[in-house]
Amino acid sequence: MTSSGVQAKSDAPASILLRSATVFDGQQLHTGWAVLVTGDKIAAAGPLAEISVPADTRTIDLPNDTIIPGMIEGHSHLFLHPYNETSWNDQVTNESLAFRTARATEHARRTLLAGFTTERDLGTEGAGYADVGLKQAIDQGIVPGPRLIVVTRAIVAKGSYGPKLSSDLDVPQGAQEASGVEEVVRVAREQIGKGADWVKLYVDYRWGAGEPSRPTFSLEEIAAAVKAAHDAGRLVAAHATTAEGMRRSILAGVDTIEHGDEGTPEVFQLMKKHGVAFCPTVAVSDAISQYRGWKRGIDPEPERIQKKRASIKAARAAGVTFAMGGDVGVFAHGDNAREMELLVHEYGFTPLEVLRQATSGNAAIFHLADRGKVQIGEVADLVALRGDPTTDVGALRRVTFVMKGGTIFRQP
Ligand SMILES: [Zn+2]
Repeated sequence: MTSSGVQAKSDAPASILLRSATVFDGQQLHTGWAVLVTGDKIAAAGPLAEISVPADTRTIDLPNDTIIPGMIEGHSHLFLHPYNETSWNDQVTNESLAFRTARATEHARRTLLAGFTTERDLGTEGAGYADVGLKQAIDQGIVPGPRLIVVTRAIVAKGSYGPKLSSDLDVPQGAQEASGVEEVVRVAREQIGKGADWVKLYVDYRWGAGEPSRPTFSLEEIAAAVKAAHDAGRLVAAHATTAEGMRRSILAGVDTIEHGDEGTPEVFQLMKKHGVAFCPTVAVSDAISQYRGWKRGIDPEPERIQKKRASIKAARAAGVTFAMGGDVGVFAHGDNAREMELLVHEYGFTPLEVLRQATSGNAAIFHLADRGKVQIGEVADLVALRGDPTTDVGALRRVTFVMKGGTIFRQP
């Protein structure tokens, strides 16, 4: 900033006019639109001729680009890095909190520069409450990153999670353990008190290596956690891959279900009826299958991919609302577009559908009224992509410009 007194300028925040080929407003594509940003908010969006541009406005021309609302990653783990680099067990057991936090800081930067200005991070996986501190550092502008929605440690049923080493050893777990209604409520409240924006429950998991997933928490335990979270104004995400885990979560009133691999048509109909959103995380299934040696397009599809196809088909038939989130962290941060690419190339969604999911869709599901759309009064979280992402999902990789809250983080 310049020193005071040099210019007798008003204290009015500076304005930036963004002129692009097209604007995707979160729902539709518009030609001939421009976006005026004043301070940290969108001051106007519409046909250029209809926008009154204040004097001293800086203009940025993006003539070959589409401006979209900053994208919202729906499922990430900033404190994890790809499992083909280091296994989950080794990350949780052997990597220090300082090392993991340093990594997470870089992951956050890459995510922002990839066009994701908000991220729901669904568990530090053994890194305690470090997500709360990282969020604070981002919010204060100390390090670059998306606006974070954090769940802190996440909650697992006692004995159900990992790492599992010798039965003689009680090793620190990848999430906070709880058992029984009273304890689940206590742990949910403890996490909320320490900064959790959402509560994340693992309602099913494999109890031992090589076993299939089975329900962990009872319906009563899940319902008690949901009530405690909702009373505190927090939403709830359930990790659920089994039909029974999903059914209990829906009846208990969770807000989103993550993964849902074994969801049946009946379960998805119940989900639709109760207004629970589905975050299918197809990218993590793709990544893990490839880490195990599967070659997509060459080898026959592994069972977990076949299940994913069936569950997505059933969810679409039931009219369930989809959240967009890839379980980033299992694969590289900054590679967030992978989920959307797979949804288009492998699961039959249109580029427009996935772009809506990643913007206005996730904003609605996550109750973020101030973002996900390009309209007056929204926070100025804006991204420019070379080409037209509503017809070409490949455009998601061609990020030319990133603004968060009126601050430019990337520019041509
Ligand atoms: Zn996850």
